Amino acid sequence: MINLNQYPYSLYIHIPWCLKKCPYCDFYSSIFIKKNKKIQKKYINSLLLDLEKDLFLIKKNIYITSIFLGGGTPSLIDSKLIFFLINKIRKKVYVSKFAEITIEINPSSISEKKIINYIKSGINRFSLGIQSFNDKNLKILGRLHTSKEAINAINILIKNKISNFNLDLIYGIPGQSLKSACNDLYKAISFQPNHISWYQLTIEKNTIFEKYKPKNLLDDNLLWKMFIQGIKILKKNKYSQYEISSFVRKKNYMCKHNLNYWYFGNYLGIGCSAHSKINILNNQIIRIVKNKNIKQYINGYFISYKKKILLKDIVFEFFLNRFRLYTKINKIEFQKLLNINNNIHYCIKKALKLGYLQENDNFLFVTNKGHLYLNDLLEIFL
Ligand code: SF4
Repeated sequence: MINLNQYPYSLYIHIPWCLKKCPYCDFYSSIFIKKNKKIQKKYINSLLLDLEKDLFLIKKNIYITSIFLGGGTPSLIDSKLIFFLINKIRKKVYVSKFAEITIEINPSSISEKKIINYIKSGINRFSLGIQSFNDKNLKILGRLHTSKEAINAINILIKNKISNFNLDLIYGIPGQSLKSACNDLYKAISFQPNHISWYQLTIEKNTIFEKYKPKNLLDDNLLWKMFIQGIKILKKNKYSQYEISSFVRKKNYMCKHNLNYWYFGNYLGIGCSAHSKINILNNQIIRIVKNKNIKQYINGYFISYKKKILLKDIVFEFFLNRFRLYTKINKIEFQKLLNINNNIHYCIKKALKLGYLQENDNFLFVTNKGHLYLNDLLEIFL
């Protein structure tokens, strides 16, 4: 039986600035003005107030098991402010001594000094947005860094003996060849990161790419070949896939924060546009979305909207997250959902028939076909 009370709690912190908007990106960010340190400080203080106001949502004696500083580009702001923020957070909530604390860093805004300050703050996981090692492709993606800068950023992590770092790569870049996509993977693997995230470029709503369709978008056939070939390369190099885009060399390097999302855990989001999903009582879930407007946010208008998720919608959300993972789904995990929504039986039958799922007495599995056509699988459950 699903028991939402037993899930861990994570904290997400959104830093809403980037040097420039990348044309494929649908995360909320506005343009960073370096000289405006006052705003950075005000924003950090607002994050702490925002957290303070949400504390009633975290049950007493609950430990935060992961913190994730994402954006935007968290590595843009003064690293001393990050140190200040994390220390203050530790005074407001119980952060487990085993907590995973991740920061997203960008090759165009990272330095050794910042990394050292992050380590002092207790940050123990680094996610580096490489995207490609090919300068032409980096330009198409609108990235400001070069391949050389990306390599330099990786070397800073290695020099500082950081073993828990992730490299983000994108494949399916307009005009990209199969060989070039594979070369990016080979190059990434040569640094032996313990985690690689290998995403397919998708054209998201409200992005520059959606508005001005880029030339030379790849066809499904080539994307399929890249996906299959990429997995082969990663597996051959001893990376195992635990989620549709996530690969690790050892189990203990799986991203705990993301796993908590995918296993339907509780998370509190602070900062512009951050989302929270918290179980309140008797399997009722509350979702909160924070204000996108930085000025309003700094002035204390933290919440954009708050709503209870209807039980029937929990069903879809559960599968939406759970199907991304490569672990078997114990039928006990979703027994209660079956009782809530009878249609689920029908959806599962249909997905089994189409070969997206397989089952035995105790477990459901998403097949390779199901992972490759994840959107089609999810549509059945919508
Ligand atoms: S991809 Fe990263 S750097 Fe680019 S706009 Fe989005 S958040 Fe900013």
